[in-house]
Amino acid sequence: MSRPTGTVVVVGSLNVDQVVTVDRHPAPGETLVATSFALLPGGKGANQAVAAARRGAPTVMVGSVGRDGAAEVATSLLADSGVDVTHVRAVDAPTGLATVTVDRTGENTIVVVPGANASTGEEAVLAASDTVASAAVVVLQGEVPADGIAAAATAATGRVLLNLAPVVPVGREVVLAADPLVVNEHEAALVLAQLVPDSVVPTDETALVGALRSLGIRSVVVTLGARGALVSAGGRDVDRPVVVAVPSPRVRAVDSSGAGDAFVGALAAGLAAGDTLLDAAGQAVRVGAFAVQGVGTQPSYPTLDDVLPRVG
Ligand code: ADP
Repeated sequence: MSRPTGTVVVVGSLNVDQVVTVDRHPAPGETLVATSFALLPGGKGANQAVAAARRGAPTVMVGSVGRDGAAEVATSLLADSGVDVTHVRAVDAPTGLATVTVDRTGENTIVVVPGANASTGEEAVLAASDTVASAAVVVLQGEVPADGIAAAATAATGRVLLNLAPVVPVGREVVLAADPLVVNEHEAALVLAQLVPDSVVPTDETALVGALRSLGIRSVVVTLGARGALVSAGGRDVDRPVVVAVPSPRVRAVDSSGAGDAFVGALAAGLAAGDTLLDAAGQAVRVGAFAVQGVGTQPSYPTLDDVLPRVG
């Protein structure tokens, strides 16, 4: 990969992931004893910032944590990975928390408490607007308030990578500012239904990407887990957009949590380095595949020194 020249600015969430493993999930009202417990740094924004920095991009995180011990856990791998955390503010709310319960089959349930992330709204983003404006790529997700997402999309002068996960109600103009919109196949269907409420959502993934492009979104990437991703960019005929399949390397998956965030961070790093969307996606699927081979989210993300799996 060519050396990055631009900065990636991630506006988003920071959490502590409280991961509990159990033999089986408890029934309502039941108490069970866990088989293990861990507190790990998480949150989609922080995950993506770590992934981008580890792939060599100068990366800045804009977000909020509490004035509590959990803030240290939430930010512990950011600075270590080279992320600039000067725009991570401490606010009077608890640090965001995700309680993750995993049973012995790997099935999980997750409850998210936004906490301090609810403070990353318009005002917080405007306080960092010079930084957002200076970014080559601004990365946004759905775990902070919609007015914060909109403010960042407006302040951006570089590319906006909108990972609308989870799919929250944002204005049409925010989605149209995306270049690219990055979503998984379930989110893609929800975004289309949100933008065109009475539309028939295509079951065919390529048609779904085409339908999103036809709304005027400049570029769209849909991730498909082990199958890789679909990419659509450019082309003059918006009614017949070209959709390219980017296969993922075959690997033995151990833990797929945070794979989408690894993909997004790597995609942003590639775009900031001046790669085409297709080339950046070609690297991002390999980074996603690397990440599923390790346990957890941030700790499983590769640096430039790691050897990525190859396709074929
Ligand atoms: P999300 O977690 O957002 O649903 P995906 O599951 O689509 O995201 O994963 C993102 C990327 O990670 C995929 O495009 C792919 O490159 C990689 N990936 C995910 N799961 C696997 C897997 N089992 N084998 C290989 N690559 C995978």
